[in-house]
Amino acid sequence: MSGKRDTKLYLHLKKWLEKAAVDYNMLKKGDRVLVGVSGGLDSFVLLDLLNTPMVFLPRFSVLAVNIDLGFDEGYRGYAELENYLRKNGHEYIMEKTDIGPLAHSDYNKKNPCFLCSRMRRKRIFEIANENGCNKIAFAHHKDDIIETLLINMFYGREISTMMPDQSVFRGKFHIIRPLAYIRETLVKKYAKEKNIPVIENGCPTSKISRRMYIKKLLDDMEKDNKDVRENIFKSMSHVKTDYLPGHNVDGHALYEMPAE
Ligand code: SF4
Repeated sequence: MSGKRDTKLYLHLKKWLEKAAVDYNMLKKGDRVLVGVSGGLDSFVLLDLLNTPMVFLPRFSVLAVNIDLGFDEGYRGYAELENYLRKNGHEYIMEKTDIGPLAHSDYNKKNPCFLCSRMRRKRIFEIANENGCNKIAFAHHKDDIIETLLINMFYGREISTMMPDQSVFRGKFHIIRPLAYIRETLVKKYAKEKNIPVIENGCPTSKISRRMYIKKLLDDMEKDNKDVRENIFKSMSHVKTDYLPGHNVDGHALYEMPAE
């Protein structure tokens, strides 16, 4: 891998990755961590950082897993990705699928992301199981967590987001997000510093998704209030349920809020 290792940015990202991992007790000695590698810069950055010496975290092993969604008919991105993983000495598994075209088929045009993520996730859990991985690391960063909060409010009628550490299948696996404290701009900057390749997955929905809409909305708001993303993130630690409607004074949930 090209690029210098101990740059100021690298040390900064490592500090915040380890802080998130310690705060949420994400990694334990002997954990086997499946890292979901989509080909996007974020997942390469996560893989890169997890494969460096840790200061505060115990020893764990890493397996990179790519589920190719089948958008790129010639699998050019697939070859490039494999080349990157091999060249940098990562242990990896790659699988070609037709999840992407299936999720965009005529009977499912309305919400391809739902089916796409569901099928991809199902296969990831199967591979984790087959390979003795108890942790599944995704490269969602701080901006993803903020955007998901808004997506769930705007479209899902609930206040929730991605958790930095989430137990699934009664604790058999944990989904972890070690980049939870790191802003997207720094992830991109690090990817540039390390000459990490950009591999497009070719998904026709990726540029028009709800996430892209929210991202643009936040970008626009940031022009007037540069702290808007940071404020939203911090607000998740200051939830005043007494000041949220939906419960009466006795604490009973009111399931049907009156319509306007
Ligand atoms: S944007 Fe494309 S690749 Fe991403 S979840 Fe949606 S359908 Fe799948």
